[in-house]
Amino acid sequence: MNFDFNETQTMFRDMVRDFAKQEIAPIAQQMDEEGTMPDELIAKMAANGFFGLSFPEQYGGLGVDTITYALVIEELAKASAGVCVMLTVHNSVGSYPLAMYGSEEAKQKYLPRMAAGEIAAFCITEAGAGSDAASLAATAQKDGDEYVLNGGKIFVTNGSRAAFYVVMARTPGTTGHKDIHAFIVERGTEGLSVAKKEDKMGLRASDTVSIDLEDVRVPASHLLGNEGDGFRIAMSALDGGRIGIAFQALGIGQACLEEAIKYGKVREQFGKPLTRQPVIGNMIADMGTELESARLMGLKAAWLKDEGRSFSKQAAMAKVMATEAAGRAADSALQIHGGYGYCKEFAVERYYRDVRVTRIYEGTSEIQRLVIARQLVSEF
Ligand SMILES: Cc1cc2nc3c(=O)[nH]c(=O)nc-3n(C[C@H](O)[C@H](O)[C@H](O)COP(=O)(O)OP(=O)(O)OC[C@H]3O[C@@H](n4cnc5c(N)ncnc54)[C@H](O)[C@@H]3O)c2cc1C
Repeated sequence: MNFDFNETQTMFRDMVRDFAKQEIAPIAQQMDEEGTMPDELIAKMAANGFFGLSFPEQYGGLGVDTITYALVIEELAKASAGVCVMLTVHNSVGSYPLAMYGSEEAKQKYLPRMAAGEIAAFCITEAGAGSDAASLAATAQKDGDEYVLNGGKIFVTNGSRAAFYVVMARTPGTTGHKDIHAFIVERGTEGLSVAKKEDKMGLRASDTVSIDLEDVRVPASHLLGNEGDGFRIAMSALDGGRIGIAFQALGIGQACLEEAIKYGKVREQFGKPLTRQPVIGNMIADMGTELESARLMGLKAAWLKDEGRSFSKQAAMAKVMATEAAGRAADSALQIHGGYGYCKEFAVERYYRDVRVTRIYEGTSEIQRLVIARQLVSEF
């Protein structure tokens, strides 16, 4: 067993760390306040290949392995969790279904554009279908060489900026997961419109919107996989996506740890710095220990994926562990900052808001535990 990263993994991590420090961290607070992300930043990230991280070089991507991808996500999240979620949704659930299951025609047409910075979004959640995604009601009616989509999607990350939407919809009149199909739909297709934008607690740089689909016609070549594969495609995209969310949470948690130490070294009470007060030292030790154990679990899930082995249980375990450890780290970091931690002047206030959703999206902690328990029970 070898715990060292290889040369490519280290090179990518360091390159993204430098980029994030120079280009993202200085404007993270401003993006949070304004609730948006500058187009110039998106263009710079595209020029550095951030939009084609995981898909093959033949389509304009960088084709990095999952471990490299995880390291990149952690570095981005340390600087801005909002920028990070835009990229992780684009690279995992947004473009992976097309890269893995798209027709050659659709891959050649769209993946190079995605790699060049045209953003992808993923639409499964509906008002009546959240954790129970298989109960989705949007419909896809076959009509000659086309499908006609109708319905409404909510909580679509990247929804107002996206050029492409992966949309899950079912044959009218069916229930359950077997008649769900996945499609790639281009922005500008008649009948697809962006509705309500959510006013969120955190991740404010990233947009989250509802999408309405009214008689949206897509060619049959935009079906991903075969008819009825939609739910399986969505679940396999989410398995990989969960590794990304685990590392997003770890990035926020690591930023909390570093800010807490920095602040604790200069803030003196009772005649000495906070970091030399045993109770604060214990909090720092727990933060570091929990984050490190979650990171190892996440890396194992990423390694299993790269080896082509089953990784669903480990991805769910890593997501639970990392998101909950990062939540505790944000709480401790804020506590170590005392009253200042409650003020927007200090970054921990933003981290505390940003980290909360990592226990909710791409499957809540409760749903991850269902997945883990189901697999464990079947193993023994
Ligand atoms: C900022 C943000 C971005 C998002 N981005 C996207 C996106 O890009 N694309 C997309 O499709 N979706 C997206 N989502 C949706 C997200 O994946 C869902 O919110 C999530 O899956 C939970 O669904 P829900 O909100 O409907 O909660 P519900 O399913 O209604 O759950 C409510 C509560 O009940 C619990 N619960 C439900 N069922 C069970 C059970 N059987 N046992 C125990 N507890 C249970 C849940 O864990 C949760 O605590 C996003 C959400 C947010 C907030």
